[in-house]
Amino acid sequence: MHEDLQEILITEEVLQERVQKLAAQISRDYKGRCITLVGVLKGCVPFLSDLLKRLEVDTNVDFMMLSSYSGSQSTGVVRTILDLKQNIEKKDVLIVEDIVDSGLTMGYMLKNLSTRQPRSLEICTLLDKPSCRKTKVPIKYKGFVIPEKFVVGYGLDYNELYRNLPYIGVLKKSAVKGL
Ligand code: 5GP
Repeated sequence: MHEDLQEILITEEVLQERVQKLAAQISRDYKGRCITLVGVLKGCVPFLSDLLKRLEVDTNVDFMMLSSYSGSQSTGVVRTILDLKQNIEKKDVLIVEDIVDSGLTMGYMLKNLSTRQPRSLEICTLLDKPSCRKTKVPIKYKGFVIPEKFVVGYGLDYNELYRNLPYIGVLKKSAVKGL
């Protein structure tokens, strides 16, 4: 375990098993169709990569980068920093996100992408922190429901660190400024 962590919440093995199950479920649901995966950078990267390798349907990948967080605090205002390269009109779009917390980011994504008239638009998130929800978000696929803790690892960062950890953990108080 990384020395800045107080606990591991989800081990690498449990993460990988769950991702495999999600991929199987998504592959069944989208059988015979082509999925356009829209990853939300940067936190989605390990999850999207593992999911992608296990999907058994045609897939097409694109990314968006948004901003609303500074350190561990949400500013509440979501902005697009990097937009899709593809036209998603009439496409089956599946948003791939690391964590849904307040729901503001996914609320923004749904509103933004639905104006581009995809055939379908769903959300797949690795983690769901429902205790912090400020706006209702319809999540079709979720990996784990977690308690109200600031987590890092497997794509999730604190000031751009810890994304490389293969598990999800909780930082020690001493490693966090301002939590
Ligand atoms: P929301 O808009 O739902 O509040 O937040 C979504 C984004 O906030 C996530 O994509 C992620 O970047 C960040 N976030 C929310 N909760 C956490 C957390 O516990 N740990 C980390 N590292 N990022 C979080």
